[in-house]
Amino acid sequence: MISESEALDRILAGITPLPAESIPPVLAAGRFSAEEIHSPIALPALDQSSMDGYAVRSADTPGALRLVGEQPAGVARNLTVGRGETVRIFTGAPMPAGADAVVMQEDVSADGGIARIGEAIPVGEFVRRSGSDVCRGQWLLGIGEAITSARIGLLCAAGIQELKSHCRARIGIISSGNELRQPGESLAPGEIFESNVPMLSAQLASVATCIGTAHSPDDDLVLAERIRALSAADALILSAGVSVGEYDPVHEALRRLGAEVDFWRVAVKPGKPFLFARLGTQWIFGLPGNPVSSFVTAHLFVRPALARLSGASAASAAPARIRVPLATSIDNPGPRPHYVRAAIKNGLACPAALQQSHGLSSLAASELLLRVPADARLQEGDLVDALPITF
Ligand code: AMP
Ligand code: MG
Repeated sequence: MISESEALDRILAGITPLPAESIPPVLAAGRFSAEEIHSPIALPALDQSSMDGYAVRSADTPGALRLVGEQPAGVARNLTVGRGETVRIFTGAPMPAGADAVVMQEDVSADGGIARIGEAIPVGEFVRRSGSDVCRGQWLLGIGEAITSARIGLLCAAGIQELKSHCRARIGIISSGNELRQPGESLAPGEIFESNVPMLSAQLASVATCIGTAHSPDDDLVLAERIRALSAADALILSAGVSVGEYDPVHEALRRLGAEVDFWRVAVKPGKPFLFARLGTQWIFGLPGNPVSSFVTAHLFVRPALARLSGASAASAAPARIRVPLATSIDNPGPRPHYVRAAIKNGLACPAALQQSHGLSSLAASELLLRVPADARLQEGDLVDALPITF
C-alpha cells in the first residue's frame, strides 16, 4: 500500500498532455492553455470616464464652467478642456485633453451652457487610467492554466482571436456488479440502482469528455470485452470489482488484456482498493464501488490525472485545498488519512453525522472533504485542510 501523495506523484509522473490546437477563446472553455498569452494592448487602451458626467480640470472646481462639447463612448472627438471649461462625458468615453477628473452628473446643475459644480473635485476622480487593468505586454495566461469564463473575457477584451489549447481527454466509464440495474428497470430483492457511472461522468466533466459508458456483470471475460470496446478512450474509469473477492473481476480482466498495473491500494479512507494501470496507451483507473469511495478517489486521483492529460500543469491539476476552522472536535484513530464529508455553516466546517462509504445523502449535502490526518484528534476551532467539492 502506498501513500496518497506517492499515488498522485506516480500518476502525474507518467501522464503528458494531449496535443494542442488553435481555436477561438470561446471554444476553448473548459480546456487548458498550451501557450503563454501576453496582452497586445493596454486595458483600458485610453484614459476614460467611469461615469456619466462632466470632464473638468480639478483646479477649476468648485466653479461655474463653460460647456464646450460632448464626448460619448465609441468615438474620439479630440476635444480639449481649457481653463474654466467642461465637456459633457459618458461612461467609457475617452477623456478630453486637459481634463483630469469627472464630476458625476448628479452633482452638477447645468443650464444655458454653464455647468455649476459645488465642490472641489480631486484629480483622477472617476477616471479609469489607461493600463490600470492590464499593461501592454502584460502576461494574461500561462501554459497549463484553465481557460475559465473570466479568462475568456479577459482574452477577448485584449483582442485575442485564437489560442492554442490542449485537446480534452476522452474517457470511458464502466461499472461492474451483478446487483446493478438502471433507473427505470425494476429491482429484484438484493438489486440496486446504478449511481456511480452518472456521478463520475458529472464529476469528471470539467476535465474530460465522456465518450462512452458500459456495464459488466461480475465476469472478467465480459468486463475485458467492455474494456476492449472502449479502446478509443484515452482513459478508462472502472467502477467497482477492484478488491480481491470472488466477485471482483477487475484484476483478472486486466491480466487477460495484458495491462500493466502500476499500483493497487492507497492509504486513504475511504478508497483503499484504488488501482492505477496502463493498457497500451490507455490509462486505467480502478475505483472501489462504494459510491463515496468512488467519489473521493475520483477527486483525489482521477480528476488531477485527467486534468493533466487535458493539458493542466501539475499545479493546476492538483485538487484545490483551503484551510477551514472546525465546528466540532473530530478524531481519526486509524492509520490512514480520513476524508470526512462536511458542510459549511457560519464559516465553520460541520462534519456530516454519517461517514460510512455508502452514504450518498451526506455526500450530496457536503461542500468539503476535510482531510483528517492518521492518528489525529482535532479540536473545535482547529484549522483543517479541506478540499472544496462543489463544482
Ligand atoms: P465492490 O467495490 O464491487 O465490492 O462494491 C462495493 C459496494 O458498492 C457494494 O455495496 C456495491 O453494491 C456498491 N456499488 C458497486 N458499484 C456501484 C454502482 N455503479 N452504483 C452504486 N453502487 C455500487
Ligand atoms: Mg462488486
